[in-house]
Amino acid sequence: MKYLDEYRDPQIAHALAAQVARNATKPWVLMEVCGGQTHTLMRYGIGDLLPKGIELVHGPGCPVCVTPLELIDQALNIAAMPDVIFTSYGDMLRVPGSHLDLFQARANGADVRIVYSPMDALKLARENPGRKVVFFGVGFETTAPANAMAVYQAAREGLANFSMLASHVLVPPAMRLILESPSNRVQGFIGPGHVCTIMGFGEYQKLAEEFHVPIVVGGFEPVDLLEAISMLVSQLEEGRAEVENQYSRSVDFAGNPGAQKVMRDVFTVADRKWRGIGEIPQSGLRIRDEYAAFDAERVFKLAPLHVQEPAECISALVLQGQKKPIECPAFGKRCTPLTPLGAPMVSAEGACAAWYQYKRYA
Ligand code: SF4
Repeated sequence: MKYLDEYRDPQIAHALAAQVARNATKPWVLMEVCGGQTHTLMRYGIGDLLPKGIELVHGPGCPVCVTPLELIDQALNIAAMPDVIFTSYGDMLRVPGSHLDLFQARANGADVRIVYSPMDALKLARENPGRKVVFFGVGFETTAPANAMAVYQAAREGLANFSMLASHVLVPPAMRLILESPSNRVQGFIGPGHVCTIMGFGEYQKLAEEFHVPIVVGGFEPVDLLEAISMLVSQLEEGRAEVENQYSRSVDFAGNPGAQKVMRDVFTVADRKWRGIGEIPQSGLRIRDEYAAFDAERVFKLAPLHVQEPAECISALVLQGQKKPIECPAFGKRCTPLTPLGAPMVSAEGACAAWYQYKRYA
């Protein structure tokens, strides 16, 4: 297959779904790790094509959703400072902090701007030498190299008015947390295709062996996902627990060594708090001391914040595959894309947003 249409071909999709139905002799619970995969599954109604016993649950792979509430509040504090231009991708602007979001901060007079790349923020820093330009660097391993490159480039140019508020998290520790939970239901993972484009799939073998869980790295089109589901069901039915690569047009064992190098040069692995879930050991990236002059947390000397998550939001359970968005009492009532209580309702990769947009049960 060479063209996008083939990855959306209904005949191929139905044939793969039929293959799953032939192979599945018992119920299986499968998790797609990435929020992008969640949206494809919901948009194309892939769950409806599968036999009833195959249950799809959603994973933690939505970076906006897992950015801690404290960090959103810190972003709001920085954005409110004089002489600051605060920059971010668009979907971070709608994520609720404790009292407001970055859009509201902008309406209140803060200079908050949407950018499409960290390099846009660097450009703003060059053009505004009298202002402090801060980029909100959020994401998994997928976006970490580009963000690392922005810090590296700022250091090379001596751009002293650029800094990054970094909130980078790593996928394997989150999968480990899910597998170690006594209430885990996940029996197989559709692995994160974009993350593995950078990191390769080699690092998932330890998880597959240790927890005897099959992992199939999957792409983002309907045929990709159905093929990954079919490969997972085959493994489960045969009692295998291996890492397989459905997304071979983008992913290989080792990933992108150049991207990994710039990540390692600028970031170091650290404990990280995940929104709703809490701290996961060694699950994030923080800016190395050598680049402290570009780390907004240190530049602005931010004191630690302790804030309460909205009690109604069950996003931690949604992100670990233990509940569906529809099981949240607030879904579609007190929590909608216009009145979000939690990040999964506003993020472009959020599971609650996907259910609201494509299922419209409420
Ligand atoms: S529907 Fe809203 S309140 Fe419920 S889990 Fe999703 S984001 Fe949280």
